[in-house]
Amino acid sequence: MFVPALRPPTDAPRAAVWFAFQRDRLLVRADGERAALLEYADLAAMGVDFEAGHYLGRLDDVDCYALQLDDALGPPHEAAFEGLHALYGRLPDAVFSIAGRAIQILLWDQTHRFCGRCGQPTVNAPAERAKLCPQCGLLSFPRLSPAVIMLVQRGDQFLLARNKTFAGGFFSVLAGFVEPGESLEETVAREVKEEVGLDVVDIRYFGSQPWPFPHSLMIGFTATYASGEIRLQEDEIAEAAWYSRHGELPHLPGKLSIARRLIDWFLEQERGADTDKIAP
Ligand SMILES: [Zn+2]
Repeated sequence: MFVPALRPPTDAPRAAVWFAFQRDRLLVRADGERAALLEYADLAAMGVDFEAGHYLGRLDDVDCYALQLDDALGPPHEAAFEGLHALYGRLPDAVFSIAGRAIQILLWDQTHRFCGRCGQPTVNAPAERAKLCPQCGLLSFPRLSPAVIMLVQRGDQFLLARNKTFAGGFFSVLAGFVEPGESLEETVAREVKEEVGLDVVDIRYFGSQPWPFPHSLMIGFTATYASGEIRLQEDEIAEAAWYSRHGELPHLPGKLSIARRLIDWFLEQERGADTDKIAP
């Protein structure tokens, strides 16, 4: 179990786990299909600056730190810098989850070096994970961009769409960022209307997932078709259609995403059970 914390322990961090990134790529040693973080000694041999580490908290009884490495540092023998997408399923789930937390802390550290209001250099706030402007007092927290993701169902059919920006031509459920002033349910209804021209009802919370690409929080919903014909928002959606639970499906998103969890959940429902569905 991971317990986040701000202040590092006073004893030497030698036994800690270090999430060392170069930009958004994590330094790992590949071990067959699996991957593992490097040991302290490996990092020390690279000459990394441990003082620059950000304390994250404790995983079970091990301290965890995030560390940004210089662009010029090459990986040691048999190690490599790899993107988080490629590491899903190859690191233990708890470690993968902390890696997502680590990269977002590092990104925040790099992009809040100056006050957004008065331009002064910021410092780390003493009591919370925030950058403090010593000049005007503005606090800047790690950025988090909430987005809703929703499976729209109609009987034993559900809606899949192909976004113009999706690599590899896969289909997924609809998603979109929350705008200031909106409730999550309002975002769901607005995005479905904007992207495919449909009205939905019965919007229900499904689950959520941190999505550190680079700093989203995906909030999943199910919704039921109410009215309208599919009409694409053409600058964003390449195609969209209803798919049957029992028919052939297009190329779907990978297991990493809550999109896939929504789809798998729907596919596992029995025909006729739609009216009394229970989200996990
Ligand atoms: Zn300021």
